Amino acid sequence: MAGSATSYEENLALAQSAMGRYADAPLPHLIAGRRVLSRSGETFTNYSPIDGRVLGEVAAGDAADIDAAAQAAHDAFLDWRSRSGTERKAILHAVADLIVERRHEIAVTECVDTGQTMRFMSAAALRGADNFRFFADRAPSAADGLSLPSADHVNYTTRHPIGPVGVITPWNTPFMLSTWKIAPALATGCTVVHKPAEWSPYTAQLLSEIALEAGLPPGVLNVVHGMGESAGASLTEHPLIKAIAFVGESSTGSMIQAQGAPTLKRVHFELGGKNPVIVFDDADLDRALNAVTFMIYSLNGERCTSSSRVLVQESIYDEFTGRLVEKMRHIPVGHPLDPSSVIGPLIHPRHREKVERYRSIAADDGATVHEGTPWADAPDGGNWVSPMLFTGGRAEMRIAQEEIFGPALTAIPFTDERDAVRIANDVDYGLAGYLWTSDVGRAHRVSHALEAGMIWVNSQNVRHLPTPFGGTKASGIGRDGGDWSFDFYMETKNIAIALDTHAVPDLSA
Ligand code: NAD
Repeated sequence: MAGSATSYEENLALAQSAMGRYADAPLPHLIAGRRVLSRSGETFTNYSPIDGRVLGEVAAGDAADIDAAAQAAHDAFLDWRSRSGTERKAILHAVADLIVERRHEIAVTECVDTGQTMRFMSAAALRGADNFRFFADRAPSAADGLSLPSADHVNYTTRHPIGPVGVITPWNTPFMLSTWKIAPALATGCTVVHKPAEWSPYTAQLLSEIALEAGLPPGVLNVVHGMGESAGASLTEHPLIKAIAFVGESSTGSMIQAQGAPTLKRVHFELGGKNPVIVFDDADLDRALNAVTFMIYSLNGERCTSSSRVLVQESIYDEFTGRLVEKMRHIPVGHPLDPSSVIGPLIHPRHREKVERYRSIAADDGATVHEGTPWADAPDGGNWVSPMLFTGGRAEMRIAQEEIFGPALTAIPFTDERDAVRIANDVDYGLAGYLWTSDVGRAHRVSHALEAGMIWVNSQNVRHLPTPFGGTKASGIGRDGGDWSFDFYMETKNIAIALDTHAVPDLSA
């Protein structure tokens, strides 16, 4: 399936051949290296976000399928953890090679399944390969620890994989996000049961095919499809599963924590956001304008780190928001497989309704609603939206507090640095913060004052994989990236060896 398909026509032809097989038979689970349907025989239907037509049936897993997958992951763990880091590294690099080889197929599948556009999904497919390479290279040193000698003992630490883990992912960039969780887990020697989002099941199948072809032993990666409240919940409750890496909504994270409590699950949560981008009047406004636009209207605004609130200093508020409105009106909405499209249809009719509802919520709250240009040729039955910008926002409005998770930006004026920080922090979330200023001292002060796990100064979100990724407040628990990922999937052990110089008390004397 390799090739250099870039035009709309080529992408469409590739998508038709890639999607054909999903129409013929239900998408199965992968358990212990075998493709199986649910024990119950149940399936659910997956629909196209582009025109609402049926894409195919998908096996609907429940507790019985999760149990089989957890058992398979448990059985495979002893062998996989015993492989040398170098061997795991070679297999994970082979996975990355195959992702690169099948990147166009992955990208078009993701576009058709999620509505995200090709210009972002082709990069996201390659980022999946980068994730595997990054953690593959670190596999040989994953168990390394510290030397912490005392006067009478040599203390050293070592790390061991925690065991079979559950990975639960959302629908916004499913392939990339699943590799971000699965690659480090496999690199440490953990085995995995993956429960992909029910609205975007297909690229999990491609990743599992690639993993088997790359030489991953059966049972090391298992995939069970199904609803969150059945397959997802069973995974979080299963006693053989030692940890849950979850990406999704804050309210789901809260449920997972409760579900995992009886079995003392270790959890890692990457949750929602309502991220501020603060534009001071001394900023490079041309660059800021492009970054603000990019961070809310790329990936359909269905992005956890989107800058969904732009806080603009009063002195430049009218000019800056006026330019933003102009830019927004020129953002192309179109077919996800057309390389010139920026915004495609949203994932699901329910999500589209939610996003559209904020138009009237904004107006009712007294904000001004600006609309982008709809796609004139949008097929009927799809979840099409136009970009939105709400000006005259205030911190207490729902459009300034709630995660919309669509191409909708709320602009709020502020007076000075203190006011900007107050408004920025006045939300439940704390994932990312962006600020634009040419004052170096202020850049540091505001970065320290913002309640968020990640800050970008004079930049959009540009990921560097060794850096920590994660949020504070309702945006998450834990960090990914660099060694932080390994820390989650591993147990640290301290070993103390006496130099035979210390006193050992004799209690009978
Ligand atoms: P969601 O929470 O509805 O679903 C995510 C996954 O959880 C799905 O696979 C779903 O089936 C499963 N699930 C649902 N209920 C469950 C339960 N009770 N037990 C176990 N699993 C359950 O999220 P979504 O709507 O798919 O994704 C959008 C959300 O994801 C947004 O809030 C977004 O901000 C967040 N997100 C966060 C990050 C990050 O890195 N912080 C990245 C991407 C998306």
